[in-house]
Parts: sequence; structure tokens; C-alpha cells
Amino acid sequence: MGTRPNQTGSLFGGEPEPQATPEAPLKAGLYAEVAIDRPLDALFTYAVPEEFASKLAPGVRVAVPFGPRREVGVVVSTRPDAPPEATRIKPILKLLDEEPSLDASMLALTRWMAEEYACSWGEALAAVLPTALKREAGALQVVMIRAHPDIDEATVAALETRQPKQHRMLRTLRELGGGIELRELCRRLNLTDSVAKSLAKAGLVFIERVASRNDPLATSSVVRRRPEQLSADQATAVSTLTSALDSGQGGAFLLQGVTGSGKTEVYLRLIEAALARGKGAIVMVPEIALTPQTVGWFRSRFGEIAVLHSRMTDAQRRSMWLGVGKRRARVVVGARSAVFAPVPELGVIVLDEEHEPSFKQESTPRYHARDVALRRARELGAVCVLGSATPSLESWQAAQSGGLRRILLGARVHGGALPPIEIVDMRGEKRDGPGPALFSRRLATLLSAALERKEQAILFQNRRGFSPVLWCASCGETMRCAQCDANLTFHRRIQRMVCHACCEELPIPRQCPQCTAPNPRMLGAGSERVEGVLKRSLPDARVLRMDSDTMLRREDYEHALEAFGRGEIDVLVGTQMIAKGLDFPRVTVVGVIDADLALHLPDFRASERTFQLLAQVAGRAGRGELEGRIVVQTSTPGHPAILAASRHDYEGFARMESKLRSELGYPPHGRLLRVVIDSEDPALVVDAAKAVGELMRGQAQPGGMVLGPAEAPVALLRGRHRRHVLLKAKPGTDAIARVRAGLRAFTLPNHKLRMSIDVDPMSML
Ligand code: ADP
Ligand code: ZN
Repeated sequence: MGTRPNQTGSLFGGEPEPQATPEAPLKAGLYAEVAIDRPLDALFTYAVPEEFASKLAPGVRVAVPFGPRREVGVVVSTRPDAPPEATRIKPILKLLDEEPSLDASMLALTRWMAEEYACSWGEALAAVLPTALKREAGALQVVMIRAHPDIDEATVAALETRQPKQHRMLRTLRELGGGIELRELCRRLNLTDSVAKSLAKAGLVFIERVASRNDPLATSSVVRRRPEQLSADQATAVSTLTSALDSGQGGAFLLQGVTGSGKTEVYLRLIEAALARGKGAIVMVPEIALTPQTVGWFRSRFGEIAVLHSRMTDAQRRSMWLGVGKRRARVVVGARSAVFAPVPELGVIVLDEEHEPSFKQESTPRYHARDVALRRARELGAVCVLGSATPSLESWQAAQSGGLRRILLGARVHGGALPPIEIVDMRGEKRDGPGPALFSRRLATLLSAALERKEQAILFQNRRGFSPVLWCASCGETMRCAQCDANLTFHRRIQRMVCHACCEELPIPRQCPQCTAPNPRMLGAGSERVEGVLKRSLPDARVLRMDSDTMLRREDYEHALEAFGRGEIDVLVGTQMIAKGLDFPRVTVVGVIDADLALHLPDFRASERTFQLLAQVAGRAGRGELEGRIVVQTSTPGHPAILAASRHDYEGFARMESKLRSELGYPPHGRLLRVVIDSEDPALVVDAAKAVGELMRGQAQPGGMVLGPAEAPVALLRGRHRRHVLLKAKPGTDAIARVRAGLRAFTLPNHKLRMSIDVDPMSML
């Protein structure tokens, strides 16, 4: 990464920062290289005023003039003289830290991330620092919004046609009852806070700043007994891991074992060992699994722990971050971003459910927490443990080739076989009116029997809404979003058509928008329809639907799970939200309504995802004394992923899938780099994608092959046309590095274009 003199006026065409001394440098002596959160592949040089000189060090945050603005940046190094090519060097305006926010190892790690994931050093640093530390003054308050209590149905309805966005927000708030954090609401509804402001001006909602509440996860206290005796497999695992900890070299491990095999207990023992040696630990779990229960397990063993997740307020994150740095908490439990927690003397990093796609960040910097964890552990000589019942093919392959040491946990701790999985061929089921049946006879029978015995059931349908397709029988068209390349889904409770890509809503058309034939048909089923059919056929059952439509707030999700745990609900119906980590002993039937949903995605990981999902869902049954049964409904009962899952045969699946991938040069037998170009103007996209494709082809050899440009599978998103180019690189070559460097140097010809570079992409849409 090169250094560029700070000619910020010319870079952004703005006026010089008014507070800056016009003719810097001040005195000969000290200059600082500063990284700024902008997509610019450069560092910026500033002069250090004498008053700051004693405290200024790498890792300290500073306020600097940048074009017409004042920005917060991080000092990455200092130097005695200005770079010779520098002109008009401006001084640092303010020192924001008494002590560095980041140590040398974090600076090195972020520098590596910038290189690896093709972003600027400043962008990588911004991902590491909690939001409140990125700004000059950390926000200590959160903005909450709630509907005015006196609003009636008519007021909401009146907005529907004139102000659809305000309508969407107000309706949601009214249904919610209480308050919600404004930022969270806007994110969920894909709206901006200007919509909230208009509603507030009209007196329809209250917006208020409240002192940041305590995070409920920060106080949960679920006790987990410390078992006296480890199983033989667990004992071996713990001793192998502890030796690695003691060796000072650390190590990278794959801990593989089915749900219930005691992986969590192994993590807990390893962390005990680390604490006893004065070392700290980070545990990452998928965001959705970060429940009071999980967090409670760690707290009940280790006392004060720090929790980090995306839904915390800025102030909460900041206080956790500072507490960790000051050793108030030695164990951090969190989601993806916890990989950056500033734990002093970090000895252990655990990534549970390492195969989960949510460990990859889908915005800049597009890092994978697994790769960052492995890197960080290696640099520090720490132990990194990746845990899963169904490891990603990448980790499985790494274990085969020795990059990871694999530790197997053979069976469930409490004995107990894995529940049998029955595959039901839905092509043999009687149709339900015009559409296929939603419930097979087998599933219906098992379900009623379980409810008779006062047991519980979980039904899984990984698609929300009532009906995903509105289809015209006369012209064959389906109704699509005008802004996105996506079908509109019918949502029955709100009686609207919803685009799941952009959240836009439309009224239900009485006739086909294409050919005006009357009454288009609703095809297919989402979770809302499953819930509806269930309630109709089992009127006495207490049914609860859990998906992102019904569970807007984290506390809704937690309350629902608690109610299920207390037995106040008989059947949970939901999307992948309910596939993770739930442990309810009275669940004896688990049904997968349509196992084929994930198989049809245009993504080379479709089989892997399906296998993982089925294995995970299957792990929900028979967790207690009672015997569990799993029914998987499919129209492709012979599909290898479904067959392997039904036999609980992970190894067989991994071998077969690995072979297929190897023939195609896909990961883990090669790496990918994907570039997406988008713009509202389709012609610009075509030209730019072509230029990018040529550039990539020019750099790809040897070892690389370029596919495309072609339309992205989602060719239109929020009004922007999208094309992509894919590089397939053979292992052991530097094709990725070459192409990445070429792309970093490439400038888009038009500001209406956007380009995103995704190294090792997890999503191909
Ligand atoms: P996993 O993380 O692999 O799903 P857990 O560590 O959560 O497995 O263990 C599953 C269950 O077995 C938990 O209820 C846990 O308390 C219990 N358990 C784990 N190890 C032991 C042990 N050595 N002795 C008795 N119970 C154990
Ligand atoms: Zn849309």
C-alpha cells in the first residue's frame, strides 16, 4: 500500500479545512501516516503538532482535515520527515485517545485484511473499531420510536396510497405495540429515518432518545452444570487442545461432532485452561445462536464475560470493548465481529458452527471470520478451534491436507442414537386442490400423535410469507418487483404483495398486470401458509410462527422461545431462524416441509447448504428422553444431499461433494474472486463489466480462468442492474493476488457505476 501526500483539496475538490494552518508543516520533526475509512488505496500524511507529539503512537485515533471535512482516522505509523513528494501537509487537529485503541497486532491484522479482501486499510480498521469509537464523541443514547397510542386503523389506512413508506412504517409500529430502536426498524424495513421524521411531524409517532439500556444478554444467568467426568473423546480433545495452548505455538483445529456430542463442554474446558494460565478467549457463534441460554452457559462458568453482537447499541459496544481491553472480562462471546475483540494475551479463539455463512461479512470489508480467526491465532500463537457437526467443505478439505488438525467426537454424550430421518416423496401425495400437498400423510399422522401425547413439534419452511408466486394462468407471467429481479410474495395477514429483496409492498392485483386476465393464482407456500394450514387442520394445537415478519425484535424471538420451552406452544413453524441451537427435550417431531427449496438456488454450494440445513434441523429432535422422528418432504428423494443427510452420513457427503467440486475447480479445490458491477443505467454496466472482464483476463494467467461477464443471478436489485465476472484460481498459484492488484488499480469510468470485489465469495447471487 503506497503513501500519498495529502493533497486533499485536489482529491475532493473541496475548500481546505478552515481550522488547518494553511502553510504546514509546522516544525520539522514528526509526521503521522493516517488511515481513513474511505475506499482509497492510500495513507495520508499529517504533521504532528508539538502538543500531541508525546502521546502520538501507532493505533491512536485522530481527527484530521480531509478535503472540506473533518474525519476520524487511525495513526498507523510515524516518521521523522515528510515524504519528499508531499506538498501542503496539514496538521492533525485533535488527538482522540490517551492510549492507542489498537495494538501492533491489530494494526498488522487489519493491514493483512486490506490486502486479502481488497479494501483500504482504513475500511478494515473501521470494521474493527466499534461504531462509537469511530466517531469523535461516542453516542451514549439510543433513538427509540413507537406509534402514538391513539392511532386507529383508519389513520394507518389513509397513508396507504399517498405515502406507502410512511404506511409501512406506521403499520409495523402499531402491530409491534411497544417501542423499537429506530436504526433497527429502518434496517428491517429498508427505509430511512426521514420517513420516521415525517411521521413524527404529523404527530403519528414518538421518537425519543433514551439512555442506552443494558443489553439483556449481558445479565442472563442460565446455569450449566460442570460435568464431573468427560467422555473419553472429550478428554482426548481437551488434552490435545491444552497441549497446543501450552506449547506456545498454538494451532488450528477442527472439532467435529454431531449435535449433543459435547463440543461446547470441550470449548468450556479449554477456556478454563486458558484462564488458569492468565490468557483470554474469544468464542464466536452465529448471531441467531447468541441467546441468553448460550451466553448464560459461559457466564455461569466464567463470571464476568463480555458479549458482542450486531444489535447492541453503540454505547454498549463501546463499554464492552473498553472493558475487554482493561481485562475486566477475559472471555468474549459474540457474533462475527467478536473476532476483533481486543483481548489482551489472547490464548483461545473458538468458532462454533464454523460452516455458517453468516461468518462472512457481505459488505466491505468482505472478510470471513474463520480466516481472520485463523490468521489472528497464528500470529499470536493462540489455539483456534473450528467446531461443527457438518464442517464446511473448505475446513473438511483443510483437515484432509493437514492445514487443520481434526479432532472427532464420536457419539452423543448421553448415548442416544441420532433420530431416524424419513424421506417422503411428495410426488406420491394427493394434491391439495390445484397445488401439491403441504403435509404428507406420514407427517400429518406423526404430528397428531405427538400432540395427543402432549409432546411438541417443529416445522421448518425456509421461506416467509404466504405464497411466493402470483401466476397468471392465461399468459403464464409471474408478478415481479419493478425494482428487483424477484417474485413478489403474497403476505396474507397484511394483504399485500411484498418484494423480499427491497421490502417494497404493492396491493394485490385483481387482474394480471400483463394481460389483464382476472384473478392470478397464488402458487407455492411460505411459512405463513404452513401456519394457516396447520391451524385449520389441527384447530386445538397452539401454533406459533417464527420468522423475520413475526420476530422483529430480538426480545420477541427470546420470549417466543421461552414460551415454547415452558410448553405454552405445541408447534413452532418457522424459517431457518428455528433451525439453530434450540434444545427442547419435549420436541419429538421435526418436519421439513420442502427440502428442495435450497437445492434450486443457482449456487455451487446449494447441495452443501441443503445437507447442513437438514442435519441441523434433524438435531432438533430427540434431545431428551423421548424418541424423536424427523420427516423430510421432497420431490427429489434421490438427490445425493438428501440421501446422505437421511443417513447422517457427513463423511460420505463430503467425499462426494469434494470430488464434484474438484472436477469443476470450485472451492475447496481452487479459490474464487467475484466482481459485481452495478448501476441504474444498464448500458453503463454492460460496458464497465466488459472492461473489468478484459482486465481480469489480462492478469489471470497462469493459474486463473475468468468466466463472464454475465448477468448476475439477481440481475436487478433495488433499481440497479447487476453483472458479474468470476475468477477461478488454481490452488498454489498467485492468480488471485495478481487480479486483485489489477482491480485495485482500476478506476470506474463513471460515478454512476459501483464495483464490489468479493474474495472467496459465499454468495453467488
Ligand atoms: P454440542 O455442543 O456438541 O451440541 P454439548 O456440549 O452442548 O454438545 O453437550 C450436549 C449435552 O450433554 C449438554 O446438555 C451437556 O450439558 C451434556 N454434556 C456434555 N458433556 C458432558 C459430560 N462429560 N457428562 C455429562 N453431560 C455432558
Ligand atoms: Zn424489489
